[in-house]
Amino acid sequence: MEQRVISERARELVWQAERDLEPVFRRADAIEMVAQQRVLAAFWAERVSARHFAPTNGYGYDDVGRDTLDRVFARAMGAEDALVRPQFANGTHAIFTALAGLVEPGDTILSLTGAPYDTLESAIGIRGDAPNSLKRMGVSFRALELLPEGGVDLARLGRESANGVRVVYAQRSRGYAWREALGLEALSEAFLCARECFSEAVILVDNCYGEFTEAAEPVSCGADLIAGSLIKNPGGGLAPTGGYVAGNAALIERIAQRLSVPGMGREVGSYAGDYRPFYQGLFVAPHVSAQCVKAAALFARVFERLGLATMPRSDAVRSDIIQAVRFRDADALVRFCRVIQQAAPVDSFVTPEPWDMPGYEDPVIMAAGTFVQGSTTELSADGPIRAPYTAYVQGALTYAHARIAAMMACDALLDTNPA
Ligand SMILES: *Cc1c(COP(=O)(O)O)cnc(C)c1O
Repeated sequence: MEQRVISERARELVWQAERDLEPVFRRADAIEMVAQQRVLAAFWAERVSARHFAPTNGYGYDDVGRDTLDRVFARAMGAEDALVRPQFANGTHAIFTALAGLVEPGDTILSLTGAPYDTLESAIGIRGDAPNSLKRMGVSFRALELLPEGGVDLARLGRESANGVRVVYAQRSRGYAWREALGLEALSEAFLCARECFSEAVILVDNCYGEFTEAAEPVSCGADLIAGSLIKNPGGGLAPTGGYVAGNAALIERIAQRLSVPGMGREVGSYAGDYRPFYQGLFVAPHVSAQCVKAAALFARVFERLGLATMPRSDAVRSDIIQAVRFRDADALVRFCRVIQQAAPVDSFVTPEPWDMPGYEDPVIMAAGTFVQGSTTELSADGPIRAPYTAYVQGALTYAHARIAAMMACDALLDTNPA
């Protein structure tokens, strides 16, 4: 039986960081409470019971588990309607389906937050020339860069031509960029302005990593639609796969025609698995998301105490679960990611190595010892091996796991591991 020894110094450093974070943790608890009430009220209103968890097969007509999950999820997000599907391969697929379901040839998508998340670039047609990209279907894409301080460029927005703009697009999370997430307050202001300039457009938010980190979701502050992944926040670490789109009911109906077949929409689609993990995952999602927010703040505070640059700062008001940190050199970045892997419940014995990932210029190191493959609701870290040696760390099914990992990280970085 192996039990890792954590030095007194590392323990003390982490306990001290936690004492510093008391107000931050209280805020996370308050948000969890509000979100949990909303989620629970959704389960009550839809009278969820065991029959909703049952698998279905074939065409999936009248799949009560699927249809009820849509309604529960919609209520939990403060939306009119939702499509929640294991058949969405991931968040990218859900966002792409929403976009493709909204646009017609000749339309323009206007991003308020610069380039979209990497994986959407081929889908939209900004990079490469994949068949069936939105570009190939005659849809153009235009992006307003974020201001240097990270806000939406409202002055530029006011000068943009509304001609042909069918979708106004915003990414809430920092994703993997050294910038702030856009909080609901900033989004509200931008959407108000967008609504004025583009009265015909649909406002769609890439909500990945943002769910349940604030007291409301972007559909409550002016967005028409939100979309995201179920192996991130709203799956609560239990959903095995999938994605969602939620928001305005008429738009959801339209997107359902793109999800399956025009004319069939949401009437079809069975699932021979069990719907229980999706319901249960949504139920625990406010708690797990709060664990993730606390974990991110803890890593930030510990790194700050070690003299490293963090984004956001440990006391920031968060709108996503990502924490970025800059290490002094490649060696420290690699050591940190290896410790996150060692601290994992799954594949703790594996040593991650930097590798040449397709689509990246520099080797990338990734640590992810997760129950659900690729899930970033679970504690994970990664970063490209290039200056300024930034690692992105996110997730934690339990806060105690993050605390242990943070202590192990201190030892690895301070080189004081007595073991
Ligand atoms: C993860 C993520 C996506 C894409 O989700 P996948 O499930 O990985 O396809 C899109 N946007 C942002 C901001 C993300 O963090």
